[in-house]
Amino acid sequence: MSKLNTALWRDMMGYLRERHAPICRQWFEQLEPVDLDSGLLQIKTANAVQQNYLQKRCLDQFVEAAQSVTGQLVAVKFVDRPAAAPAAVNTAAPEEPAFIHAEPAPSAAPAPASSHEPLDFDADQMVLSPDYSFDNFITGPNNQMAHAASVAVANQPGVAYNPLFIHGGVGLGKTHLLQAVCQKILSDNPLTNILYVSCDAFMNQFIECVSRGQMNEFRHRYRHVDVLVIDDIHFLANKDRSQEEFFHTFNELYQSNRQIVLSSDAAPTEIPHLEERLVSRFKWGLVTPVQKPGFETRVAILKAKAKLRGVEAGSDVIDYLASKVDSNARELEGAITTVQGYAALQQRPIDLKLAHEAMGEDIEPPRVNQVTLQNIIDVVTRYYNVKLQDLQSRRRHKSVTEPRQVCMWLARKRTRFSLEEIGGYFGGRDHTTVMHSIRTTDERAAVDAAFARQLDQLDSQITPTSPGDETG
Ligand code: ADP
Ligand code: MG
Repeated sequence: MSKLNTALWRDMMGYLRERHAPICRQWFEQLEPVDLDSGLLQIKTANAVQQNYLQKRCLDQFVEAAQSVTGQLVAVKFVDRPAAAPAAVNTAAPEEPAFIHAEPAPSAAPAPASSHEPLDFDADQMVLSPDYSFDNFITGPNNQMAHAASVAVANQPGVAYNPLFIHGGVGLGKTHLLQAVCQKILSDNPLTNILYVSCDAFMNQFIECVSRGQMNEFRHRYRHVDVLVIDDIHFLANKDRSQEEFFHTFNELYQSNRQIVLSSDAAPTEIPHLEERLVSRFKWGLVTPVQKPGFETRVAILKAKAKLRGVEAGSDVIDYLASKVDSNARELEGAITTVQGYAALQQRPIDLKLAHEAMGEDIEPPRVNQVTLQNIIDVVTRYYNVKLQDLQSRRRHKSVTEPRQVCMWLARKRTRFSLEEIGGYFGGRDHTTVMHSIRTTDERAAVDAAFARQLDQLDSQITPTSPGDETG
């Protein structure tokens, strides 16, 4: 038995960071090579979720790295602490393995389909990602309630809200929250029997079991769990028989206080062709939305994702990406990956210029009639009768702060300058000041109609500089 030396391990990690950056995570630092013996490298993980995730999602890359740095044929195995928690979500369930190898149910036996092997339900279990923990979830006004409810459910399954129903558009964190619930429950009690599947898997298994005559197995599998988590339940729409089966599964679990957690792209009442009795049951517990993140939440998500992936990006880059990508967290994550990949390709550090290039905005198209900061200042200083120097000064008298804030508001609206760039122009103020100004202006316009009209007027008076003119 030979110990893997630390230099080799460092090289392996270096190899992964260089060749397979997208899979690398900050928590890889917790991994520990325990043994390299007879061509088998064993790597110890911090918990069962990491182990299962790495084994299912990253094995090939680790094998490649191990072989490359040792120059030998090496197999890799991820191990959890001895006598440990489950590898997949539910494999700890004491009754589960017995069930998988159980005798075919008597009713199934005579059916021709009974010659099939019993269905391997766990092949379809969703793999939990260590990334999707509560720690890594950023909260904001858009998802606060869904987050709080998820935490409550994870702390006391079957007690707090049952069912918990989280709905919202794509990429807004539903799957992340569902997985965080599973992980928290498992870390508190590794023996909890959690079944976490996509709605598709539920329906496919149901159809498969019907055709194989294995409905007893199906029911046993779904109705004897402590926690049932189904992602994207809206796929039940229009599927009458699956709805019927789910209805009975739901009742059985609900009646014995077992926790049910569901996600959907729409609120229960908005899911087309969903039986009324299901709609009403979904509303028995807590129905809570996740919405699009605002600017500040997007900044926080980007920072968290960059940290998780070991990507070093300054706040100017983060702000730029947060203003450029305003749809959902998945796209934000995609932007980080794009910038990371581009930097690796170019072998350059990540800065604002690189981020612009990576996002395909390097060369500003020679847009006709582009508004410059000077155009805005011309209009605002004329209207308020102030000087540019005043706007750029530290003075905080209302006669100066209002036009300054209006300038920033218009700059945000009419130009593509980042918050930092705008702040820089108006006396070296930081982006939070700019954000504050924009918000103050918006809020006042919402309640003060005269002020709103005045903003409109100023906006309409801005005359763009024609191409070639160098001001601004
Ligand atoms: P959904 O299931 O709603 O389509 P996901 O949960 O798959 O969305 O989220 C897509 C990506 O965005 C995931 O990588 C997830 O970690 C990330 N994400 C979404 N919301 C948040 C958040 N509030 N904080 C951190 N990451 C988030
Ligand atoms: Mg999802």
